[in-house]
Amino acid sequence: MAASLSPRCRQITEFLASRGEPAWRVKQVIHGIYKSHAAKWHSISGLPTGLQYHLKQRFGKFCLNWKPVSMSEGDFAQKALLESHRDQSRIEAVSLKFQTHRSLCISSQVGCAFQCSFCATGKVGLKRQLDADDIADQVMYFMQRGQKIDSVSLMGMGEPLANPKVFDALKVLTDPELVGLSRRRINVSTVGVVPGILRLTEELPQVNLAFSLHSPFPEERSKIVPLNRMYPMSQVFDVLDRRIQKTGRRVWIGYLMLRGENDSQDHARALVQLIKARPVESRYLYHVNLLPYNIARSVGDSFARASAESIESFQQTLQQNGISSSFRNSFGSGIDAACGQLFAGYESKGVSSKSMAPAPLVRPTSSALSTGVSSKSMAPAPLVSLTSSALSTGVSIKSMAPAPLVSLTSSALST
Ligand code: SF4
Repeated sequence: MAASLSPRCRQITEFLASRGEPAWRVKQVIHGIYKSHAAKWHSISGLPTGLQYHLKQRFGKFCLNWKPVSMSEGDFAQKALLESHRDQSRIEAVSLKFQTHRSLCISSQVGCAFQCSFCATGKVGLKRQLDADDIADQVMYFMQRGQKIDSVSLMGMGEPLANPKVFDALKVLTDPELVGLSRRRINVSTVGVVPGILRLTEELPQVNLAFSLHSPFPEERSKIVPLNRMYPMSQVFDVLDRRIQKTGRRVWIGYLMLRGENDSQDHARALVQLIKARPVESRYLYHVNLLPYNIARSVGDSFARASAESIESFQQTLQQNGISSSFRNSFGSGIDAACGQLFAGYESKGVSSKSMAPAPLVRPTSSALSTGVSSKSMAPAPLVSLTSSALSTGVSIKSMAPAPLVSLTSSALST
């Protein structure tokens, strides 16, 4: 049982033991939170009133880490602005109602250090890591409101694979005794944090992975996604090939369609060549997901949504060349709930996307990536070099090895 990975479950266990409660009482309380979706301690049925009172005294009135500040609704999307009971930090989580199912988009960090040029969260800077409960509680929040959740995507605020606690959260989310979601219904999206991809493949191979590419050209990608300078896309693709060969599971390539930036036929053809250059055993399990761009507040007007015509002809080129692809229409853009728009009301650090173009690689310090960053110390998210331990997800940079650092040349793009 993954309860030992949840700070709350650990504290409940210790607290009940210190009061001399029997072991089955722990199960009763955990069941009340995760299966009966009790919002408050006194709503957990079967507990003596005195114990409900002591739990409230010890842990506060509410069972979950977040309290809602506001809820926006629009075009099949609900966006919750949530505030931490612990330090008042804020995140956003989105519930999307499709015809056949409901899907959540949840956050993994408060802000983000990586400063992708199109992304409102990146403009905030990294405020703090979320812990396993902070992450799983976003799902619990919607469950408490009676929503049946079919799938969950870690595509909200933050880079999931730059937060080691995401792995604990995934285990809490998929433990049948806790949140109980299927691993195959969970999607993790990354801009290419190689140690995190390796660890995910090792520990949770059934969890779906999406790699946010956004450009088939390395130099151009480095401008849009500065992390490309640390983990070049060629290295990421090598790791993805090995993941596909090991798991036999599809990898999604996220491609945000930006007008005049990456939506040309040259880009489409280069993307075709990039995927065709993958080993034969893996290339057919790449699926390109074209995404509409939603103008994000604080990003400025540097980017615009690609036209319907350019998206259509881009996709046609992919299809004519046998590349599996889809175009995902965005829900929630009207309430700033779409990809890249979540920023939880934090002010931008005032970095314009243009000025970021030649941006130095923005890398969090090890302390910024640890879980114990206080809201005070988080403030200006320092731009310092990343050590291997900073991104440590259990896989050392060295152990990523076979991945050769081959930069993608034009010949690599041709087949
Ligand atoms: S796109 Fe993801 S990795 Fe890039 S800045 Fe935004 S949250 Fe961070």
